[in-house]
Amino acid sequence: MVELLHQDPEIYRIDIPLKGNALKNLNCYVLKSEGESVVIDTGFNNVDCKKALDAGLDELGISMDKTNLLITHLHTDHCGLAPGFSCGESRIYMSKTEHDLIRKWRYRRYRREMDAMFRLEGFPEEELVEAAKRNPMIVYAADADYDIVPLRDGDKIRIGGLTFTALAMSGHTPEHMCYYLEEEKIMFLGDHILFDITPNITVWPGVKHSLSTYLTNLHRILSYDIRFAYPSHRGISGKTLEQRAGEIVDHHSRRLNEILKILKEYPGSSGYEVASRLTWSLHGETWETAPKRQIWFAVGETLAHIEYLIDMEKVFRGNKMVNGQQVHTYFLENQL
Ligand SMILES: [Zn+2]
Repeated sequence: MVELLHQDPEIYRIDIPLKGNALKNLNCYVLKSEGESVVIDTGFNNVDCKKALDAGLDELGISMDKTNLLITHLHTDHCGLAPGFSCGESRIYMSKTEHDLIRKWRYRRYRREMDAMFRLEGFPEEELVEAAKRNPMIVYAADADYDIVPLRDGDKIRIGGLTFTALAMSGHTPEHMCYYLEEEKIMFLGDHILFDITPNITVWPGVKHSLSTYLTNLHRILSYDIRFAYPSHRGISGKTLEQRAGEIVDHHSRRLNEILKILKEYPGSSGYEVASRLTWSLHGETWETAPKRQIWFAVGETLAHIEYLIDMEKVFRGNKMVNGQQVHTYFLENQL
């Protein structure tokens, strides 16, 4: 399904279904200008996404080998089909940092570091194995390497009559890019701000302060002059960016307070134990019965919030041994 969203410049949305995934869809944006075209994000590397993308591009009279691809971030629902753009006159643009991480992930190094990080937070070994089986970063990853034009914050990309500025709005991922058309006052948000769901903020090996970085960049994006803002998932209108950013900030404050309450009641909990006591919408499942992949995301999000509270010196870290394995524990100041 292709929808015309904007006339000058021409902006279209291809609806890419993400079947079986809570995100439900990817909004793939296509821009046309002076005989050139740009696609922003691709969908998973699976049959349904490929079909929807091919049909959409076909309807717009565009082929993968003659269009440019801008990738917002490393999640596979955004770049799973990138290798298809890696030929002919096409160029693929993305953050250099995130492209390096995809390579590390592909060669398993990063996955091992990530597993070690979760083990240290009390994530049970058998659940870790189960979670990996359905990890979209593994199951729907691109099936080949691809070269990119590496981007840094502030880089300009000129395509047809359009000039995009790449803005590193890190937080959701280590160097998530938003793409800004300054003259037209149009921002492609990626997953930095979503209107119907809260972007997941988690911990990453070698990356510190995900949540505070995210909150800083939530504030930063509001400093741009934006008339139209296009998110990567679900609905694209209904609220202003300021309203939505405010709601997201409130969501994180509630989470931080909930964690403080849990630690008051259960001092010395591991990250996994704190997560299991937080309120989640698990679609009718309990913590025990929910898919382990979902539990993995919940624990990652909890750890990002705990790290924030440690930085604020409201929470302190200790250690305990569980089945011969060292596990982090967390306390409030007056419990030490
Ligand atoms: Zn994402």
